[in-house]
Amino acid sequence: MGAAMIHGPRTGNAADRRRPMPLTRLAGVFITRPFLFAIAGIVGALATACVVAVSLYEMREDALARARDTTESLSVILERDIERNVEFYELSIQEVLDGATNPAVLQSPPEVRHLALFDRSTNARDMGSVLVTDADGNVVLDSRSVRPGAIDLSDNDYFKVQQQTADAGLYISKPFLSRLAGEGQAIGLSRRIDDPRGQFAGIVVGTLRLNYFRRLFAGMTLGPHGSITLLRTDGTVLMRRPYREADIGRNISAAASVRPLLRDTPGSGSFIGFAALDGAQRLYSFSHVGKYPLVVVVALATRDIYAEWTQRAWIIGSVMGVLDLLLVAMSILLAKQFRRRLEMERQLKRLADTDGLTGLGTRRALDTTLDIAWRVAQRTRQPLAVLMVDVDNFKSYNDLYGHPAGDDALKLIARCVADSLHRPGDFAGRYGGEEFCVLLPDTALAGAIEVAERIRAAVLAKRHPHDRSPGGVLSISIGVGSFDGAAGAHADTGPERLIREADQWLYEAKAAGRNRVMPPPPVGVSAGDPAPEMARRSVTL
Ligand code: GH3
Ligand code: MG
Ligand code: MG
Repeated sequence: MGAAMIHGPRTGNAADRRRPMPLTRLAGVFITRPFLFAIAGIVGALATACVVAVSLYEMREDALARARDTTESLSVILERDIERNVEFYELSIQEVLDGATNPAVLQSPPEVRHLALFDRSTNARDMGSVLVTDADGNVVLDSRSVRPGAIDLSDNDYFKVQQQTADAGLYISKPFLSRLAGEGQAIGLSRRIDDPRGQFAGIVVGTLRLNYFRRLFAGMTLGPHGSITLLRTDGTVLMRRPYREADIGRNISAAASVRPLLRDTPGSGSFIGFAALDGAQRLYSFSHVGKYPLVVVVALATRDIYAEWTQRAWIIGSVMGVLDLLLVAMSILLAKQFRRRLEMERQLKRLADTDGLTGLGTRRALDTTLDIAWRVAQRTRQPLAVLMVDVDNFKSYNDLYGHPAGDDALKLIARCVADSLHRPGDFAGRYGGEEFCVLLPDTALAGAIEVAERIRAAVLAKRHPHDRSPGGVLSISIGVGSFDGAAGAHADTGPERLIREADQWLYEAKAAGRNRVMPPPPVGVSAGDPAPEMARRSVTL
């Protein structure tokens, strides 16, 4: 049971009926669907999280790009410096080689020969000494003294390589601890001396102190965990910053991070890998030193590269996370609040539109629904019918049984009215007191009379005792007002006209003896027991 509502156009004046602005419409969509607030909040939070994530990722890439620029330029600077010095040293060795194979120089007195062979450049700070040996490795000339002591270099790699290979060119040795006082760790750069017949006649070797590289590397600005390594292309470590004596001379060619840079072809490049010597992840930039079998590798630890970024990312990420959580929480709260408000409004409207005693529509709901139904009927040119229902002899019922019993009787009748309405658009409301009004959209007069008869019969079928009624049971009378939907019909009158018409017919029904529907059904149509047969009378409106 309950009042069936008509779904029609909005009520109100013309201004209200104007199409709302898009923004107002959007607000309306949100207010009537509170869960959209929560969804909008979550989508907003996700969107901002995505934007922040993308920005952080780009910041991270920028940090890596900046670090790559730094390591690449450092490796190039170092490579140039080392190349220039090795080249310079190679030239000095070449000069000694030329002199040592020149009979005129060799035959001159030792002091003159010494001056001719070794210019002052060989005394430069990081140059050790330049030595010339015979074919057995015995030092015959020494840049540091006119008369060299007895030194045998035959077990050194820089001697053996030249002894065994005719075209070794400039050989750069493994690091060794120089036997010469004050030189410390050094490498030897050797060239082979051939006699006029092309046989091995000894070597010229210059020692280069590793201190030179150590000082060179120390002057570079690196992060706290950065490293610079000078390698021979066979993987032998010549110098490394940070310096550990044990690393010097180690062969690290087997390490995955070293393999890419030990190619024979000179060049440079960058990659990210794990250090062979300390296992830290680093960004490596390497440069081959000119034509020499040497590689400079500059590396920055990724934790240094990303240190600043990581700090910022934590701050930005946590602030965004908190804001996003707040946004989601607030939108969910807002959604709940709106849902509660909406539910309350619906409940209030339900209360305002539902008659407390009968459960049918109130007079307010009836007026609104009638207004809508009237305008729909006008626009669609569909018929509309109104039934006015009044309880017969109800005053005497009250007098006889008391008001509480009268209220129960009204509830019973209301149930009969509601149960007799089958279409979704039908509406029943309490017009006032013991009078009910039924709206029947898209229903012509004949159909409306049929519904009215059904209601009357339903009440009668209850056989509810009413001792002061002629029939002995509770009965009702119904007047029917109708609009046939014809274009222009009653255009100048409002829906009140229908009520008035129904009221007039109700009056007629009472006058004709009660317990009947007026106007009566057409002749031949069963009106149900015990509707009296009456001639249709015109009603003056
Ligand atoms: P008639 O057959 O001509 O309609 O006679 P009637 O006695 O029903 O006359 P009327 O329609 O004027 O009856 C109105 C009476 O209905 C007055 C009042 O006693 C009773 N009534 C109106 N509203 C209520 C109500 O809410 N509860 C009860 N119990 N009685 C009501
Ligand atoms: Mg009445
Ligand atoms: Mg009455």
